[in-house]
Amino acid sequence: MKTNLLDFDLDGLVAWCQAQGEKKFRAVQLFRWIHQKGVADFSAMTDLAQSMRQTLQAHAEIRALPVITRHDSTDGTIKWMFDVGQGNAIETVFIPETDRGTLCVSSQAGCAVGCPFCSTGAQGFSRNLTTAEILAQLWFAETTLRREFATQDRVISNVVMMGMGEPLQNYSALIPALKTMLDDHAYGMSRRRVTVSTSGVVPMIERLSQDCPVALAVSLHAPNDALRDRLVPLNLKYPLAELLQACRDYLAFAPRDFITFEYCMLDGVNDTDAHAMALVEWVRPARGEPLPCKFNLIPFNPFPASGLLRSPPERVKAFAAVLSGAGIVTTVRKTRGDDIAAACGQLAGDVQDRTDVAGRRAKTIQIHA
Ligand code: SAH
Ligand code: SF4
Repeated sequence: MKTNLLDFDLDGLVAWCQAQGEKKFRAVQLFRWIHQKGVADFSAMTDLAQSMRQTLQAHAEIRALPVITRHDSTDGTIKWMFDVGQGNAIETVFIPETDRGTLCVSSQAGCAVGCPFCSTGAQGFSRNLTTAEILAQLWFAETTLRREFATQDRVISNVVMMGMGEPLQNYSALIPALKTMLDDHAYGMSRRRVTVSTSGVVPMIERLSQDCPVALAVSLHAPNDALRDRLVPLNLKYPLAELLQACRDYLAFAPRDFITFEYCMLDGVNDTDAHAMALVEWVRPARGEPLPCKFNLIPFNPFPASGLLRSPPERVKAFAAVLSGAGIVTTVRKTRGDDIAAACGQLAGDVQDRTDVAGRRAKTIQIHA
C-alpha cells in the first residue's frame, strides 16, 4: 500500500521524506506542489530530482476520496458526497459569497454526541476520519473549483469544521489538518479564517488553545444544564459552567477576541425570551467580566423523523432582540443550499449506523416531555 501524502502536515512530510533519504527543503517543495499548486502527478513536479520522483512514484500517492454524488444549488452552493469505505459516506459543502468562499468540512463518519436535532447525530457514529480524509475534502474542492473557475487564485478562503462529526472528538487527526490549512507553504489561511465548531469537549478546547488556536465556535443551544443535557448529551459530561469557563480561557490564546456561540432555534423548546435572558446572564453576568462573544442563531433545518420544528421568524427576531438589547452582536444564519439539503444539520451522508437506534429515538421524544 502506498503512503497517502495527504495524511501529513509539513512536519510529517519532512519526517517521511527524511526516512526516504531526502532533505527537508525537498519536502517543502513537495508540500507546495501538493497543496499550493494542487498537483497530484509526481512527474509534473519539475523541480524535484528525477530520483526523488521515482521514489515517490514507487512508494507514495496523493489519493483523494471517490466522489459519490455532487449537487449544485441554485444559489451556487455545492455539496459533494464522498465514499470513505465500508458503506460510509461523508459530505462537504462549498458556500460562495461575494467576499469569500467557505468550505464546510466533515471530521467523522457520523457523530457519537447524538444531538436529537441533527441528522448526523441521528445516524450514530461510525468512525473518525484520518488527516488525509479531512484534507482530501479541501484539496479536492480547491483543485476542482480552480479548474472550473479557470483561475490560479485561491477559491476557498475560509474553512469551517461544521460538516459531519465532532472535530474535537477526533483531535489527533484534526490538528495536522488544521496546521496544513494555516501553513504558508500549503493553504496559507489566517487563523481567523479557520473555524472549529464544537459541541463542547472541554479538555480538548483547552488543548486546542495550546496546539492551534484557530477561531472557535461553540454549539450552545440551551441556557441551562437540564435542557442542554437533552439537546447536547455531551453536556452531561461537561456542563455549562465548565464549558463557559473553557471559552473564557480559550480567549487568552485565541487570535479572535470572541467566541461564536451557535444556537439552533427549536420551536417551543429553547426559543423563549426567558431562554435568551438566561443566556445573557452567562455571558454578561451582573457580577463579573463579560465574555466576548457573538451569537449566531440557526433556524432549525428539519430532517425526516426529527420530530422537531423550526421557530417561527418572529420568535427568532424577538430572541435576537433580547441578545442585541444586552449589547451582544447577534446574527441569524441565512440558509444556503436549501434545495440540495446542504444546510446546517442536514448532512447525512450515508453512515452505517452501529449505535442503538431505539435508544436515540427515546431521547428525541423526551425533548417534548
Ligand atoms: N459537531 C460540531 C460541528 C458540526 S455541526 C458541533 O456540533 O458544533 C455544525 C452546526 O450545525 C452546529 O452548531 C450544530 O448544532 C448545527 N446543527 C446541527 N443540526 C442542525 C439542524 N438540524 N438545524 C440547524 N443547525 C443544526
Ligand atoms: Fe454531532 Fe454536532 Fe450533530 Fe451534535 S450537532 S450530533 S455534536 S455533529
